Amino acid sequence: MVESRTPILVNEAIQRVMHYAAAGKVEYVPIEAAHGRFLGEALIADHDVPLFDRSPYDGYAVKAEDTKGASAETPVELEVVAEIGAGHVYDGAVASMQAVRIMTGAEIPVGCDAVIMLEETESTNQNKTVLVKKQCGPRENITPQGEDTKEGTVLVQQGTHITPGIIALLATFGYVRVPVTVRPKVGIISTGTELLEINEALAPGKIRNSNAYMLLAQIERAGGTPVMLGQFEDDFELCYQKVKQALTEVDIVLTTGGVSVGDYDYMPAIYEKLGANVLFNKIAMRPGSVTTVAALEGQLLFGLSGNPGACFVGFELFVRPIIRANFFVSGVHLRRMKAVLTCDFEKPNPFYRFVRGQLNNQGEKLTVTNSGLDKTSAVSSLAMADALIVLPGGDQGYHCGDVVDVLLLHDQRGSIEFGGGN
Ligand code: AMP
Ligand code: MG
Repeated sequence: MVESRTPILVNEAIQRVMHYAAAGKVEYVPIEAAHGRFLGEALIADHDVPLFDRSPYDGYAVKAEDTKGASAETPVELEVVAEIGAGHVYDGAVASMQAVRIMTGAEIPVGCDAVIMLEETESTNQNKTVLVKKQCGPRENITPQGEDTKEGTVLVQQGTHITPGIIALLATFGYVRVPVTVRPKVGIISTGTELLEINEALAPGKIRNSNAYMLLAQIERAGGTPVMLGQFEDDFELCYQKVKQALTEVDIVLTTGGVSVGDYDYMPAIYEKLGANVLFNKIAMRPGSVTTVAALEGQLLFGLSGNPGACFVGFELFVRPIIRANFFVSGVHLRRMKAVLTCDFEKPNPFYRFVRGQLNNQGEKLTVTNSGLDKTSAVSSLAMADALIVLPGGDQGYHCGDVVDVLLLHDQRGSIEFGGGN
């Protein structure tokens, strides 16, 4: 018997899934392992940077008033009382008509209020004196304390993806161990009697299991920890046991295949036997209209299509935001931008379409074109896709020059709302 399914809108489907979003736990990892993780708490400056007035140049720290009238023709001679490199301080007194030879990054000695660049000076008397060839004003060439960062400033918000720049800040503030959010464990179960392991030779009617490895990479890109739970033939009891077991081993369970209405599509029956609450089993979108999501005692089961294009899109639209929500990320959804189409989609489609696309620039415009064969069963067009082109359903096609929404696949900032009104 073929059951009838009522499609719901993509936005509605996402909302039903996000109802289960929960913030994750915080753990500490060594700073060397923090890159690419998500910050578990806000990074607040606990001291000024720099912590002291310092010299931005190699030169001489002076009293500005002593340089009055100095020029190349009428240099002023000052006595050099000390020499300090970065990391050293001079805590003696600096009197009128005295200077301190200073290197980049060194603290300005008490009593000095300007730095003359080395290029504007000439050392004399075996470095005991210096000719200053330029007049300078008070505070000239001094990097003031707190110029970079003031104590108490929130520098990076909780939930931010940790980049090399953030690592630099963490190190500046002495984070040997960094608070990050725990990565949820996301299990992958592949179903389909046609599936071969990827090291197996091709055989008639069989295909290699590409989805499991694609999902593994997508989970990693989203920030989760993938757990490969095996591939199984279309056998109801076997798959039921594997899914049931998976629920005890991982936080989120993904399956690929078996969610359509074919004779060997057992996922719907498996959800029923588990007693899981099916949030939806049909979405008004292509590819991936059969994407099914169920919940059992707060735990989510994502039934992704076996078709690679649909499996890919289903993950990015529905699984990714749930993983990201764990990390206190505000922009859990794919980042949405506008781009100009550089190809045609003649055929109207009543459903929303998410076409694998490739972004480009033409002059000042961001452009997008499809990244290859736009069929749900196609794998090749996934390779170069860096965006999904959003084509709202309707009775007309889309054409070169039309401005469309695109969802960025490699971006880390994300969008707060899925948006787009679909
Ligand atoms: P299904 O969702 O089980 O109806 O599968 C739809 C299509 O996707 C079929 O042509 C399958 O052969 C293919 N397929 C299913 N699972 C995978 C997989 N793990 N990797 C690649 N293709 C798959
Ligand atoms: Mg199948």
